[in-house]
Amino acid sequence: VTAVLRIVARPALDLVAISEFLEGEATEWRRTPGMPPAEELIEFAGRVCYLSFGSRQSPKDTAAYVRSLVDQGHHSVLEHASWSFLLTGVSRAFTHQLVRHRIGFSYSQLSQQYHDESDAEAVVPAAVRRHPAAVETWKAAVDRSHVAYRELLRLLAAGHDADDLPERERLRLERSAARSVLPAATETKILFTANARALRHFLDERGAIVGDEEMRVVSALLLRAVSAEAPELFSDFVLTERGGLPLVERRGDRAES
Ligand SMILES: Cc1cc2nc3c(=O)[nH]c(=O)nc-3n(C[C@H](O)[C@H](O)[C@H](O)COP(=O)(O)OP(=O)(O)OC[C@H]3O[C@@H](n4cnc5c(N)ncnc54)[C@H](O)[C@@H]3O)c2cc1C
Repeated sequence: VTAVLRIVARPALDLVAISEFLEGEATEWRRTPGMPPAEELIEFAGRVCYLSFGSRQSPKDTAAYVRSLVDQGHHSVLEHASWSFLLTGVSRAFTHQLVRHRIGFSYSQLSQQYHDESDAEAVVPAAVRRHPAAVETWKAAVDRSHVAYRELLRLLAAGHDADDLPERERLRLERSAARSVLPAATETKILFTANARALRHFLDERGAIVGDEEMRVVSALLLRAVSAEAPELFSDFVLTERGGLPLVERRGDRAES
């Protein structure tokens, strides 16, 4: 399995509500044509701070406005743009690192208590994939742990220890015990929502750790996805490559806060 990232929800402006507000303030917002909703939303939020509409609106276009917010470190405004991502084909080891990001991230992940993992796939680390002998050792270990998982489920059900529990709790108990032998490589699926400020922090902190190859791959998927949605917002991040795998680096002095 390989990592796949899909955007399942994205920012959208309610232009009717915005017009109502502007009419109430007897002003207007000169929008830059063809700008992505995420960046327009950020521009609009920034302009609300100073009521810089109508005669108070500078000639800056949306891209320049977003760039200046980022450059000035006015990053709370970036929190209004968020996306929901469905990430599959990644390991539980990876998502354990992902979910350490607490601020501006929300998560919903496949449960190993409600889901029977007997047929779970495992994510081969890139470093293992490069060496056929290592792949053999890795596969043998993963297979052994899957055999043990299935055998534990069978033994625990046959032991009848939890027969007095409701079905749901019996399964939870047995799967919780059996999953303790599953490898950290076990494939998982996670839906997460993150705002632009939090994503910038994540990419900055995680994107270029050379030895963390799965993190590099996912960081690159994320950067590609959000750059297509909001090019200016992430324009200070660059995708490079090292040893056939991506690196996400931030150039220049744009502050990350
Ligand atoms: C190279 C590397 C090695 C790591 N090794 C380990 C390890 O060995 N063990 C381990 O447990 N973790 C490790 N981590 C995880 C790391 O400690 C962070 O938990 C993780 O990277 C999330 O970063 P964060 O706290 O900045 O992000 P978030 O939780 O998203 O927080 C974002 C920012 O909000 C602010 N913030 C968040 N919570 C608080 C708070 N409670 N009080 C004040 N400010 C707050 C901080 O400015 C923080 O940077 C490692 C991370 C990296 C990048």
